[in-house]
Amino acid sequence: MKIQEADAKSLLRAQGLPVPGWELARTPSQVREAAQRLFDAGARQVVIKAQVLVGGRGKAGGVKLASSPQEAFEVGGRILGMDIKGITVRKVIVARAVDIVKEYYLGAIVDRASRRIVLMASAEGGVEIEEVARTNPGAIHRVAAHPELGLLPFQARSLGLAIGLRDSLLSQFVSIAAGLYATMKANDADLVEVNPLGIVEEAGPHGDASRRLLCLDAKITLDDSGLARHPKLEEMRDLDEEDPTDAAARKLGINFIHLEGTIGCMVNGAGLAMTTMDLVKHYGGEPANFLDVGGGARHDVVCGAMELILADPNVKAVLVNIFGGITRGDEVAAGIVEASRSQSRTVPMVVRIVGTNAEEAARLLREASLETADSLDEAAEKAVAMVKGAAR
Ligand code: GDP
Ligand code: MN
Repeated sequence: MKIQEADAKSLLRAQGLPVPGWELARTPSQVREAAQRLFDAGARQVVIKAQVLVGGRGKAGGVKLASSPQEAFEVGGRILGMDIKGITVRKVIVARAVDIVKEYYLGAIVDRASRRIVLMASAEGGVEIEEVARTNPGAIHRVAAHPELGLLPFQARSLGLAIGLRDSLLSQFVSIAAGLYATMKANDADLVEVNPLGIVEEAGPHGDASRRLLCLDAKITLDDSGLARHPKLEEMRDLDEEDPTDAAARKLGINFIHLEGTIGCMVNGAGLAMTTMDLVKHYGGEPANFLDVGGGARHDVVCGAMELILADPNVKAVLVNIFGGITRGDEVAAGIVEASRSQSRTVPMVVRIVGTNAEEAARLLREASLETADSLDEAAEKAVAMVKGAAR
């Protein structure tokens, strides 16, 4: 689950990271009022930032500075309602603008290859890290945290040195890196990114200037499977931006991932779903989705899942592969029949159901004149043939 910058910043703050304050605003007037408070508190400029779950907002015109409450009102009016990569901006944050001397990148991910949390840093901050990885991969430095010992101070220090930090800025970096690692662990995050981590110059009380590191942007992705352990984080789900298919799948309690192919797949069990997709490909087809309806799926869940598959206009055929254990074949068949009766367009289906109550399932499918198959190979071959038939 992706969360908005403002929520990500709250989680960073909770681990003691230096994050400048902000206010959330949904209308230009709210932007003006928030800006007024910041100017009253001594700000010379404010920054207004679109809150959408995509990167590159700056480049898209979704991050702008303003020098007065009135200008903030106007800038806010332009950003709110703006379209950024297909998403309408509904809220912005307003924060005191800072003087950035240099921008760094700092991120943490769960690295599947090493099965560890890896911290990455780069002196090429501000721009998207994927671009740095493409154009200048040597500029990204990494350390892997030990699963039990965690991120050790010397590791954080070597990372900071690698990106050129020294003295006080280096020790600030070490505690920021530790805080980033703590944020990963405390929230079961997949990814925590601060880009830019900025060296900021601040005027001291006697006209002197001091430099320090501040987290100026934050991006966090939470592990969906860890959410059950953090009920509070569920409140950070942004329903404004959730894909309707994802929302429907979550409500049904099924695992659905949309893909680019033409053969819709309904399977119980993640492993069996992967096997089914492999066989579709083996016979020359392309799966339109990954779908695990789970164990013991009831007919209404099956029917809802089938509706999700059929809602994809690319789907030209559907392959159902159910191995009934706890799942009852007749229950699944009833759901499929229900969905096939209510579907508005005619998509050919082939259904293979074995195991618990397979005979009853076969009878229901026969009565509804649905195509069946005995083996998975046969079902996959038939589904691919159906697509080819539809193409002719
Ligand atoms: P992103 O483009 O979606 O990653 O949004 P960011 O929050 O990273 O903002 C993009 C860029 O805006 C940053 O890299 C900074 O250069 C700039 N920016 C953000 N906040 C401030 C600020 O307070 N002061 C100044 N001068 N620039 C800022
Ligand atoms: Mn950024």
